[in-house]
Amino acid sequence: MAGKSMDAEVLVLGVGSMGAATCLSLARRGVSVLGVDAYSIPNQRASHHGTTRMMRLSYYEHPSYVALLKEAWDLWRALEQECGASLLNQTGALYFGHPDGALIRGTLQAAEQHDLPHQLLQDDALHRAFPAFSVPEDCVGVLDERAGYVYSEHAVKTIANRAVAYGARLVQDCPIETIEYEEDHIVFIAQSGERFHAKHLVVTAGAGASATSLGVLPCSVEVTRQALGWFDVLPGQDDPAQNLPCWAMEASALNASNPGLLYGFPARGDVPQLKAALHLPGAVVDAHTPLTSEASALQPVEMAMRSLLPELSGKLSHHEVCRYTNSSDGHFRIGRHAEKPNTTVATGFSGHGFKFVPVMGEILAELCLEGGSTRPIDFLNLYR
Ligand SMILES: Cc1cc2nc3c(=O)[nH]c(=O)nc-3n(C[C@H](O)[C@H](O)[C@H](O)COP(=O)(O)OP(=O)(O)OC[C@H]3O[C@@H](n4cnc5c(N)ncnc54)[C@H](O)[C@@H]3O)c2cc1C
Repeated sequence: MAGKSMDAEVLVLGVGSMGAATCLSLARRGVSVLGVDAYSIPNQRASHHGTTRMMRLSYYEHPSYVALLKEAWDLWRALEQECGASLLNQTGALYFGHPDGALIRGTLQAAEQHDLPHQLLQDDALHRAFPAFSVPEDCVGVLDERAGYVYSEHAVKTIANRAVAYGARLVQDCPIETIEYEEDHIVFIAQSGERFHAKHLVVTAGAGASATSLGVLPCSVEVTRQALGWFDVLPGQDDPAQNLPCWAMEASALNASNPGLLYGFPARGDVPQLKAALHLPGAVVDAHTPLTSEASALQPVEMAMRSLLPELSGKLSHHEVCRYTNSSDGHFRIGRHAEKPNTTVATGFSGHGFKFVPVMGEILAELCLEGGSTRPIDFLNLYR
């Protein structure tokens, strides 16, 4: 079908976290871009809902993420300036665990290797600095000073609006069901029957990319359900709840048989409850079936909150459910598809991708337009 007129140079499949940023990065470079999302932008079925996402730099998961995080931090601040929006709230993040556990060891390694501002706090010093937390005696704390949280849905909307201001065209409520590769371009067929034509594809469909009918992922990922809870602040305790940092703690520090990482957010004026969750892949689910949130899923988190913040944390007042898209090793998978022409894939954000959004937009724009990235992303290779 040579000479077929294109709807855009690049079609971005999924305008959620990574997709909105990719649309902006491409549109800013003057590229004609069409972003298509199955639902609204932002939306409650995607992995970005639930108001806030933690942003931290002393990354225990792998020190190689830190260079990307430093850039992401600066890009979040630049976006705030450019859009006149408040997106990133710096509160610091406090990590608790055994000194020889993966969280504390990994956090200190990343902080020391990359010269990040941090404090190691033990015993009385930990209690004096953060009296609201009641942690087991054998736990230490590390304060990651360059940390806080991002308003996730607000950020997706702000970035998408900015992309439109730069000329991107965004289509909502339009699930793409089939993708066909023609000789010199790609055809996207929506559930409605509508067809779109573009030269390049960037796959940022989150959990939706795992649909076998799309056939766009060269690696396997597992989609899981994840519960999020909001806890009332006990009467008369508003001030200490507002002054907390974000926090994370190895669940095994409370009970040796508990897997995963408990984490939470302060109760600020705009989010007046304490939010907390368990970072551990839950039950496997499919990408699109609506999920029903169940309070019982938050029981371990509720117990942990009572023990960790005994003077502050009251009853579970609200809960939601969201999806992780997990890679086999918990690290992102990004790169050009080896078998599909002009196709760039970003997947496997495994419950920790949001903080990278603006730098991921830049990386995906580079991969799409130039076939490679100037950023240090070898450790995230799609085919590793
Ligand atoms: C409960 C929870 C807590 C988290 N906490 C943190 C945190 O504290 N810090 C952090 O950094 N990260 C966190 N994350 C992870 C982070 O939110 C995700 O890694 C990130 O949102 C993934 O972005 P994405 O662009 O891949 O997916 P999404 O943001 O879900 O975007 C994918 C988009 O694709 C669309 N789509 C899907 N299929 C199709 C289709 N067929 N056609 C068209 N459009 C389609 C969807 O509608 C959606 O809008 C958390 C995630 C969850 C679920």
